[in-house]
Amino acid sequence: MTADGDMEMEEGAMSREEEKIVEEETLDPLFAQEVAREPGGEGIRACFACGTCTAGCPVRRFNEKFNPRRVIRMVLLGMRDEVLRDPFVWMCATCFTCQERCPQGVRISDLMRALKNMALRRGNLPEGIVVQSKLLSEKGTLYPLDEFDNKKRQKAGLPPLEQGEKSLAPLMEELLEALGPKDGKD
Ligand code: SF4
Ligand code: SF4
Repeated sequence: MTADGDMEMEEGAMSREEEKIVEEETLDPLFAQEVAREPGGEGIRACFACGTCTAGCPVRRFNEKFNPRRVIRMVLLGMRDEVLRDPFVWMCATCFTCQERCPQGVRISDLMRALKNMALRRGNLPEGIVVQSKLLSEKGTLYPLDEFDNKKRQKAGLPPLEQGEKSLAPLMEELLEALGPKDGKD
């Protein structure tokens, strides 16, 4: 059995050697139920594997390893460890392209967020996200602000921002505390 089943011909890039065999005894039949109970994961069973999400995904265009349809099939098959331990759930840019195009109304961006939350509870949190959280908490922005940014803000009718804006700090601290990794647990 493979995660994509008979859809792999369409994926094209995957050779026979690269195909991964799924060991039936490693599958967790309760995983899909758990994802469906997680806020954002409710619609996962409506997926009929058409591939529209993958075809339009901008991340997929640059990284063939990321494939939202495959992630959904892996969840439905019960591949808990592969989905929640791999860094690829964090690759979703939450751009909502897939969500707008899915003919089945699967809220895929929300589903990806649900999987990120589940991965986080297992301690799967990429270093880049930790760095971004600290930057937001300490400086209020992800990138250094300069005069050029404030000129653009002024043109858009927005007030200037100071480097070291602290208004996000309490929110970020609360978020990090609420979402803090719990080693190895879902
Ligand atoms: S577009 Fe919707 S139905 Fe089609 S594979 Fe993606 S999630 Fe499934
Ligand atoms: S929301 Fe995520 S999975 Fe969907 S198209 Fe955008 S990057 Fe791809």
